[in-house]
Amino acid sequence: MSKNPPHDDDRSAGPRTERPKVRLYLEHPLGKGQHVDVSQDQAHYLLNVMRLRENDVVALFNGRDGEWAARLVDTGKKRATLRVESPTAPQQRPPDLWLLFAPIKKARTDFIVEKAVELGVARIQPVQTEFTNAERIRRDRLQAHAVEAAEQSGGTFVPEVAELESLRRVLARWPEGRVLWWADEGLAGGALAEPAPAPAAILIGPEGGFSPTERARLAALPFVRRLSLGPRILRADTAAVSALTLWQARHGDWGV
Ligand code: SAM
Repeated sequence: MSKNPPHDDDRSAGPRTERPKVRLYLEHPLGKGQHVDVSQDQAHYLLNVMRLRENDVVALFNGRDGEWAARLVDTGKKRATLRVESPTAPQQRPPDLWLLFAPIKKARTDFIVEKAVELGVARIQPVQTEFTNAERIRRDRLQAHAVEAAEQSGGTFVPEVAELESLRRVLARWPEGRVLWWADEGLAGGALAEPAPAPAAILIGPEGGFSPTERARLAALPFVRRLSLGPRILRADTAAVSALTLWQARHGDWGV
């Protein structure tokens, strides 16, 4: 694989032209003329699932260098090499918004990660709370979900899914200047709080909600603001999507 660094000039993509149907995320640096060997799984996807052949074009992105059109130039039984040709979209970064959430059942946790990537977050931090249903998460699997969501939604950025950490530890090393918007089911029906601009974070609790101790701790922290999501109690996955939407509409990159 070529190790040439990407050139700034090559990244100044103009308006989007017709885009390849297949998009792939990879770690490799991207720049004009580079040759990229994709992984065995990606080769299988390109050749056997999508039935692409030599000379077909796919879109590549790595989270840093924007999106590039790349041509299949060499294929084997379980391998494929692409030549990077031209930029198709500039690198984008979502607003500096983190999502903290307590993992719930597997399918619903997957849903939260997928929707967070689609809606636009910079980081996803699973947190263990007193009433969290899950003791462990498969971080690599959730990160793969984040990659897939970025591939499918046309994004060029993949937020990091961090390791599961206790809410207490996350709060103890909270960065200065970042407001934590706590979706507090105890406020259900209260007035909608005004979302704080970036850098910001949203905290969603588990099915059992927050414990009295956690509620007292959160309420005492100067960087925490309480958020009501309306008069009904929402499931955690609905709450995550709603809070992210509210924030994006007010301070995000949706342009509404
Ligand atoms: N078992 C809790 C109860 O009955 O009070 C409900 C927990 S709810 C299923 C999961 C999480 O979604 C909550 O911890 C909170 O973060 C968020 N949430 C749900 N409804 C909300 C609302 N109306 N306002 C603010 N946050 C809400």
